[in-house]
Amino acid sequence: MSQTLFTNVRILDGSGKKTYPGEVLLQGNRIKAVAGPRSGAIAREGAKVIDGGGATLMPGLTDAHGHLSLMAAPNLTQPGDTPPEEHILGEMHNAKLVLDYGFTSVYSAFSAKPRLDIVIRNEINAGRIPGPRLRACSPILQVTGDFTDARQLHMHHDSVSIFVDGPIEIRRVAREMIREGVDQIKLTISGDEFGTPHARAEMLTMFEDEVQAACEVALSRGKDVCAHTRAAPAIKLALKHGVRVLYHCDFADEEALDMLEAKKDKIFVAPVPSSTWLTATESQDWGFTPEVVERMHLPRKIAISKRTIHEIWKRGIKVLPGGDWGFAWTPLGQNARDYEFFRDLYGIPVADSLKAATMYGAQLMHMGDELGQVKAGYLADLLLIDGDPLADVSILQDIDKILMVMKNGEFHRAPDERRLARRRKTAAAAE
Ligand SMILES: [Zn+2]
Repeated sequence: MSQTLFTNVRILDGSGKKTYPGEVLLQGNRIKAVAGPRSGAIAREGAKVIDGGGATLMPGLTDAHGHLSLMAAPNLTQPGDTPPEEHILGEMHNAKLVLDYGFTSVYSAFSAKPRLDIVIRNEINAGRIPGPRLRACSPILQVTGDFTDARQLHMHHDSVSIFVDGPIEIRRVAREMIREGVDQIKLTISGDEFGTPHARAEMLTMFEDEVQAACEVALSRGKDVCAHTRAAPAIKLALKHGVRVLYHCDFADEEALDMLEAKKDKIFVAPVPSSTWLTATESQDWGFTPEVVERMHLPRKIAISKRTIHEIWKRGIKVLPGGDWGFAWTPLGQNARDYEFFRDLYGIPVADSLKAATMYGAQLMHMGDELGQVKAGYLADLLLIDGDPLADVSILQDIDKILMVMKNGEFHRAPDERRLARRRKTAAAAE
């Protein structure tokens, strides 16, 4: 099996530790050995050597709330107008784009049409198209009159949801999605102001027998359930019935916080800051004027989520970055902005966000024992970064600073030897 040795790199290993100088040897698609400053150099005989010139070698990133089927949509109902042919090609391009930016894993939080994620995941896994490791999601299973329901009595309108009411319908659709090949079912248990004006974020929209029905089907078939849970009662129902990934959680009350904490080893929270923060601040061109933003209660939601998400993080619950990249004002590829939002909005240090995006991200992908860390025996999903993301995390948004993207031991973007040589020269001159 072929061997590659990275020398002269600073290792950010994904465990939350500080970076350290070292070497990393790959054999085939796995990391064979990691050497730090106190261990001796790794034997390099027969290995292809890549001198990183002091760049940072780190695990690939995970987006915990991916929407690869969003194609710069201005809202949640427009994707329903996109024909399936354009849609599948759009998702294919998006899959490559996020991998270009170092996202080697994406946990999807809806597929805008039932089979988009499934087909793209299968093509990626077969090696026919480039893309991240992808956990394929269903469209949103949503009740009539929730926030993506743009239908009118006289006229049908697709969105990103399948509308289901009552446990019998939910069971049927969940089983159908599992038959088609999804890895997880998405539910919206509470409403949202981002969408049609039928259900507010603090309202419980899906009832207990419906949540229970979806969870029973998914869990009995070994699938995950992820859920949009802004309202406190929605969080509680989700936890009671076995939802594994809880999105948003802005309005968690004391009881919901305690319940989250009690299950902290089994669940993940992804607050998805971009969908509130960027809608409030950078989406005027798409009609989100200050008046609209106020009507959507976004300032209130942001203020409350600052407190709640900080508290959730403080209690040791795994809070994962990622989310809602792919709308018109949240362009895919900029996903790494989340680490700044986590720091600035929620008071979560960058080191913790990066640990969440790598080590916890791999756990979210059900691959925690072999992915998400620079560690012997682990799969080689690796990035080489021109700079130290712990010192300036914004460099992860700059494709020019992402010198290499490797997935499963193969280069998606190979390092440019001339650039590495320039790095080595500058480093030598600085000494
Ligand atoms: Zn979303």
